Amino acid sequence: MDEAKDIFKKHQAQTFPFPSCIEIESAKGSYITDVNGKQYLDFVAGVSACTLGHSNPIINNAVKQQLDKYSHVMVYGEYVQSPQYKLAQLLADNLPENLSTTYFVNSGAEAIEGAMKLAKRATGRSEIISCKGSYHGSTQGALSIIGNEEYKAKYRPLLPNCNTIVYNNENSLKNITNQTAAVVIEPIQGGTGFVTPTNNFLQKVRERCSETGTYLIFDEIQTCYGRLGTLFGFEKYNVTPDILCIAKGMGGGMPIGAFISSWELMKLLTFEPKLGHITTFGGHPINCTASLATLEHLLSANTMKEVEQKAEIFRKYLKTPKIKEIRGEGLMISLEFESEELARKVVEESLECGLILFYFLFTKTAIRITPPLTISKKEIIKGCNIIKGILDA
Ligand code: PLP
Repeated sequence: MDEAKDIFKKHQAQTFPFPSCIEIESAKGSYITDVNGKQYLDFVAGVSACTLGHSNPIINNAVKQQLDKYSHVMVYGEYVQSPQYKLAQLLADNLPENLSTTYFVNSGAEAIEGAMKLAKRATGRSEIISCKGSYHGSTQGALSIIGNEEYKAKYRPLLPNCNTIVYNNENSLKNITNQTAAVVIEPIQGGTGFVTPTNNFLQKVRERCSETGTYLIFDEIQTCYGRLGTLFGFEKYNVTPDILCIAKGMGGGMPIGAFISSWELMKLLTFEPKLGHITTFGGHPINCTASLATLEHLLSANTMKEVEQKAEIFRKYLKTPKIKEIRGEGLMISLEFESEELARKVVEESLECGLILFYFLFTKTAIRITPPLTISKKEIIKGCNIIKGILDA
């Protein structure tokens, strides 16, 4: 084994028994290059994070300029910093009135933590409801509401009073009552392989939450910043949450998250006790700059408008009976196979052929495709042909 991989395996905590161990030299656009000069077409984008591709000059230049001005200066919420307030303003300009105020954090899980606290504080209730099969993060609060027992069992006790509904099952909505502080839901369920809402399910969740005085929290950590062809997923489904959680793609490759709600609700974090939620690095100016550059680009360029068209190209070029189902929405695409073995074979052999695909957390028979939104049509066809070639061999 070469030295770098040896050190990586020995001194960096490992989470997966068989990491691919690609040793990265550089990444640009839709490609990652390893230290041996091999190029990989990236159909994963750092797991839905690199919205505008790798090393996008728009983001890089903005970040470099900000680095020369200032980087970290103070904990969140103390000083007025232009990358933060400009991003908060632009978000408010593009969100409904009840989502006018942003709290910046460092990750998706942290956004979920903040949102759960806010709902508990606002309602004086403690029950949080989420969906079976959902994923909301790995910290203990977020873990408490993920809908998969295997990932929780060894870490109990977790938060009390966390209960579930079943995604796309209307009958289960009766579990939401006037004891429920919040329902946390992904517009498209990620971990189970991009399961989309049917039968106006999200609207029905909204109605039940409004009936019971329960806050509706949308986990848009994976759908945010344009992945479905709209800035946020809730626009696609015509349902407005009370609290919006975003991360991943909002940073254009930099680590940032946020929970967003009304000014009145957010104000609750400022008294009894003051400093109701604090973070040292949340809203880091460099990461806000990257996020602002990403958002500004998406609002002015055609990238979001092209999402549907690109999704169609994927669907057209992946048409084969060897793929049981193509699920998802926009550039959040999942390929369902007959067996776990076939799914694994496609991921592993694609990598050998220079195409990066990835697995889902909770389903073993599907693989994910979440490329940069800037991927070209030619690159899409090239990658699809690699997948088809493997399936036909
Ligand atoms: N929620 C969803 C839907 C996610 O996909 C993820 C990450 O995969 C998270 C929350 C957690 O985000 P993070 O890994 O930034 O903590």
